[in-house]
Formats: sequence, structure tokens, C-alpha cells
Amino acid sequence: MAVMWKSECCGGEKCTMCGAPAVAKVGEEVMPDDPYRNRHNLTAYVCETHFRQIFKDPGVDWLNEARQQVIDRRG
Ligand SMILES: [Zn+2]
Repeated sequence: MAVMWKSECCGGEKCTMCGAPAVAKVGEEVMPDDPYRNRHNLTAYVCETHFRQIFKDPGVDWLNEARQQVIDRRG
């Protein structure tokens, strides 16, 4: 299981679903045909368990690899 990177912005934040310490913030993408397009997208801090419940381990691995590729390109 890949180790998740955690932003300092999650410090002190709690998972919206269970109250455990947050490791990520997830957000909804507002689509161009949304009837309330000018609204703010739904966002939520989540713990690692709930992040993995949403994205599954392959999704977490993909995210880690994509993040590292961006970091490597900037280095
Ligand atoms: Zn949680």
C-alpha cells in the first residue's frame, strides 16, 4: 500500500465522515451544464481510510505517481 503524502494544510482538520485527522481534501468538479454552475464546488477533508474508500488503492498509487512526475519536471 502506497504511503500518502499529506499537506500541512490538513493540519488540525478532521475527516468530514468520521472525525479522524484529515490527510486530504477532496472536491467536486462543477460541470458546465450544472443548473447551479456559479456555486462553489463541494469540498471535504477526509482521513486516509475514507480517501482510500473513495479512490481505492490503484487511485492512490496513480495520484502518488502523477504528483511525483510533476515534482520531477519542476526539479
Ligand atoms: Zn474518515
